[in-house]
Amino acid sequence: MNIDILTLFPDMIRGVTEASILGRAARSGRIHFNVINIRDYTLNKHKKTDDTSYGGGAGMVMTPQPVFDALRAAEAGRKRVVYMSPKGRIADQALIEELAAEPELVFLCGHYEGIDERILDYWKPDEVSIGDYILTGGELPALVLIDAVARMIPGVLGNADSAMGESVYSGLLEYPHYTKPREFEGMDVPEILLSGNHEAIRLWQFEQSCRVTRERRPDLWQAYLEKALEQPPGKPERKILAELSGDRRFLQKKKRRD
Ligand code: SAM
Repeated sequence: MNIDILTLFPDMIRGVTEASILGRAARSGRIHFNVINIRDYTLNKHKKTDDTSYGGGAGMVMTPQPVFDALRAAEAGRKRVVYMSPKGRIADQALIEELAAEPELVFLCGHYEGIDERILDYWKPDEVSIGDYILTGGELPALVLIDAVARMIPGVLGNADSAMGESVYSGLLEYPHYTKPREFEGMDVPEILLSGNHEAIRLWQFEQSCRVTRERRPDLWQAYLEKALEQPPGKPERKILAELSGDRRFLQKKKRRD
């Protein structure tokens, strides 16, 4: 996948895209990051890329010319462009998977008060927010999306399985993890995890996932139950779902699917 990132602060992007799993993905050629410094495209003799807002108001606005030219340099006309914006669609896993299916992505990071509206009118990017709070710039939000998208690209994570059990991916939050030592300051690892009984462990983990989702994210829990009624899992899982949801339909015979 090719990812262009347009920013006024390229060092912020490089610090993250060159480190850890993203850095490894770049070195192995699975993701090609192209960091474009918007300032390199300004025609202003003082290298300015922002100006005061027409109509007044505090704060500077990024001017259209350098952003237009940087987008043209990235050949953004034939790519999916994402503008990071608190006014955008709030990112979730469905959006991440949609973006991960694209061969090329362009991320545009705003700064100061944001960007001149004509950039949005002309380029019509997807506007994406990472939550209802305001950051100083689009760099961190872009990196949040890039990191989540990268995890979806085959081969980026060392072990393909390590992606699928994660919270949210399956529709449930993840079960708790424990590592060595077996006993720490009087607190023990749950006995079942030491039993060696893989099926019992799998069902314990499933039940823990269900419990934590039911408690913390009733919205996800309801959605999961509806999906599980449509596409019922195996009998032991259905027994757990029936017990935790109180819905006896999970105890009925599995729907026949032709
Ligand atoms: N004046 C803008 C508003 O009220 O909508 C906020 C501008 S913010 C200080 C500067 C830049 O940070 C934005 O242009 C955007 O690129 C980025 N940004 C800030 N918060 C964000 C969020 N929650 N999600 C995505 N991008 C965000």
